[in-house]
Amino acid sequence: MRRIVFSGFRGTGKTEVGQLVARQMNLPFIDTDALIEERSGRSIPDIFHEEGEERFRAWEREVIATLPADNVVVSTGGGAVIDPVNMEHLRRNSVCVLLTADIETIKQRLLHKPRPPLTHLPLAEEIAEVVYQRRQAYHASADFSLDTTATSPEVAAQHVLQLLNNGVSTPEQRTHALAFFRTGRIPAPALSTLENILTSPSRDPQTRILGIAGYPCAHSLSPRLYNALFRRYQLNYHYTWFEDPELDEILHSAQEIDAKGLSVTIPFKTAIIDQIDEIEEHAAEQIGAVNTVVFSRGSTIGYNTDWLGIRKPLVSKKGKKAVLLGAGGVAAAAVYALTDLDMEVTIINRTPEKAHALAERFGCASATWDAFDQIKPDVVVNATPLGMQPDTQSPLKKEQLNKEMTVFDLVYTPPVTPLVEAARQVGCQTITGTEVFVQQAREQFYIFFGIDVPETVIRELVA
Ligand code: NAP
Repeated sequence: MRRIVFSGFRGTGKTEVGQLVARQMNLPFIDTDALIEERSGRSIPDIFHEEGEERFRAWEREVIATLPADNVVVSTGGGAVIDPVNMEHLRRNSVCVLLTADIETIKQRLLHKPRPPLTHLPLAEEIAEVVYQRRQAYHASADFSLDTTATSPEVAAQHVLQLLNNGVSTPEQRTHALAFFRTGRIPAPALSTLENILTSPSRDPQTRILGIAGYPCAHSLSPRLYNALFRRYQLNYHYTWFEDPELDEILHSAQEIDAKGLSVTIPFKTAIIDQIDEIEEHAAEQIGAVNTVVFSRGSTIGYNTDWLGIRKPLVSKKGKKAVLLGAGGVAAAAVYALTDLDMEVTIINRTPEKAHALAERFGCASATWDAFDQIKPDVVVNATPLGMQPDTQSPLKKEQLNKEMTVFDLVYTPPVTPLVEAARQVGCQTITGTEVFVQQAREQFYIFFGIDVPETVIRELVA
């Protein structure tokens, strides 16, 4: 049987609820904090006091890495989920339940317990601050979540058992969602997997769904990549296509089956912002596009990982002169990445007004297409679809390139575009669109599951 792992801030009831669930299921119970105390021969406040939080985290990592692989209920320390290595161990062959509670309730529960302080703030402020800092890690640690504010441990344990036995969605919701999937262009074997997950009498209620929202999105590499990663990390998830011209239909179906989240692609990256409750302040808000959505505890949270995928391969080009071709959705993420690397950016676009508007938003320059040769950039980024299959054009002629340039084509079908081909012939350093896909997917997987997948693994899986 899969492990049952409880995560959440201190005082949310992980130990009491975990013990009750273990008793009901006739399984052993392990509290990782208690195991650290047993193995170290000291109390947790003493470890914090004498050797600091870092040493405590090292003990915690060691204990989590050696937990039994199955047939056990585990309660983790409140900060365990911040560490991607812990997440990789905890999530393997497990069903993870996040417990939450409001700040005042946590405060009352903690008042008389000997816990090492995490900050120098008064207790209520400390709880609010640390829960906020860890919010992404907590979302990533949850297959199911439960608010224990107004419930006794006994009632909370009953709720958890119901979640484990039945999941969240009703049979009507799952049947309705299946009808939605049947209208998309999902390959027959994938549709039959969905039928098993959603409506088969022998369905596993703990299997969760993720998918790509787009129209069209049948070409996406994400289902192949994600389903391979689920097998690799033993995650009880299935990744599929939410392909529909109506964003509302997609979101409704995803929420009906309690999907963990969505990768978002053309044409919904901007439109989805209006449907989101909380948007990651720094990138998605400024870029104005969301490519990752997490559904958590009734809320929809939006992120952008495209810009990180563009930034990473260019970190060695800090402060250089760049030309960005295109002013659409992904171009905004590209300008954000380039300006974050202190590059001097000029935007060139078929419709100059759009280049001008984007340049104004980010405080950089715009120019017309025929000005390219005078700019003499160090870095050229193509954010137009020119060269994307079945198109065979390059946005620039070979004569416009020189071997000192770095040419980065965001188009990834085909893997070697006409622009990249021309740049290689000239002797330029080239970066392909696959690289963006690899980097952004890595960041996105981390947002969904808190696991840091090595780049080499993603490259192998999308090759
Ligand atoms: P978009 O919002 O539709 O923007 C397209 C941009 O390209 C616009 O600025 C448009 O100019 C310009 N454009 C379109 N057709 C053109 C043509 N024939 N000649 C010159 N300019 C043209 O699309 P997007 O979401 O930004 O995506 C752009 C490309 O990036 C796509 O090919 C996509 O495959 C690629 N992409 C790659 C990744 C990755 O992971 N590697 C991620 C996202 C996107 P106007 O303003 O004049 O219309």
